[in-house]
Amino acid sequence: MIPIAFDYEVAESVDQAIDLLKENGEDAKLLAGGHSLLPIMKLRLAAPTMLIDLGRIGDLSYVRDEGDHIAIGAMTRHTEVEHNQLLQEHCGLLAHTASFVGDPQVRHRGTIGGSISHGDAASDLPSALLALEGTFVVKGPGGERTVAASDFFQDYLQTDLAPDEVLTEVRVPKLGQNTGWSYKKFNRRAQDWAVVGVAAVVERSNGSISSARIGLTNMGSTPLRATAAESALSGADASSVGEATSNADEGTSPSSDIAASAEYRRHLARVLTRRAVEEALSR
Ligand SMILES: Cc1cc2nc3c(=O)[nH]c(=O)nc-3n(C[C@H](O)[C@H](O)[C@H](O)COP(=O)(O)OP(=O)(O)OC[C@H]3O[C@@H](n4cnc5c(N)ncnc54)[C@H](O)[C@@H]3O)c2cc1C
Repeated sequence: MIPIAFDYEVAESVDQAIDLLKENGEDAKLLAGGHSLLPIMKLRLAAPTMLIDLGRIGDLSYVRDEGDHIAIGAMTRHTEVEHNQLLQEHCGLLAHTASFVGDPQVRHRGTIGGSISHGDAASDLPSALLALEGTFVVKGPGGERTVAASDFFQDYLQTDLAPDEVLTEVRVPKLGQNTGWSYKKFNRRAQDWAVVGVAAVVERSNGSISSARIGLTNMGSTPLRATAAESALSGADASSVGEATSNADEGTSPSSDIAASAEYRRHLARVLTRRAVEEALSR
């Protein structure tokens, strides 16, 4: 289908993008890679009358070492996240997870900021950012604020972003020596969206797990933490991972659709959580 007619403006800076958002109200939408927005416009599930293109704001595309964390500009493409050396060294989970996003064409156009702002529970990066306890920098007419990933995703395709705000940066803590990680994605065909995905960040101490953070993809209307499994894993050793992850679907509300029933998704969440934690322990 063809989208409804819309106006188009190129923003030269974040401040100009915010001004354009303010001027055009809720009918305006930011355009990043366009790989989520344009498909829903073609289906007429979204009908913005103004698109504000962020693509020429060069200083929104970077990966920087900021001491205890890595800062990633919102317009950084998935492929840059996947191949960035700083991220591979200090936050391998994010680089690895980016390699699961769609196909090479999607990864060359889609951006980390677009993926997060879209707020799709089936996207891969949000659950990894939950497990990493990442934070997001958001700028609006009133200035800049920082939002924890755990507070950002609010409901189906709903985030903490106000209509006149721009997500400018993603921050991820550097992972320590005793921290292992994994992302497990189950899909029916290579490069499909996740039926279910699981991101794990596991800290080890003296042969047992001192803490585990588990992010779940596509197990509800938002990306979720598997808090019951996280509690059960605290203090567990490698031999009890199976038992400790048997409640990984607790507190979730997966949907049934053409790809899988809700019950099958629950099963996948339990199995993939066990596999992700086992892999994290071996890294
Ligand atoms: C064929 C196909 C397969 C895909 N497979 C996967 C997959 O397997 N896993 C996966 O995770 N994703 C997948 N995607 C989605 C892909 O990751 C998108 O790139 C991503 O979801 C959106 O990023 P974008 O830069 O294209 O954002 P856009 O489509 O440009 O924008 C998405 C939304 O975010 C808003 N937005 C964008 N940037 C900002 C910002 N900086 N501040 C505030 N709001 C902003 C826009 O206004 C819009 O509402 C797939 C997409 C396609 C087309």
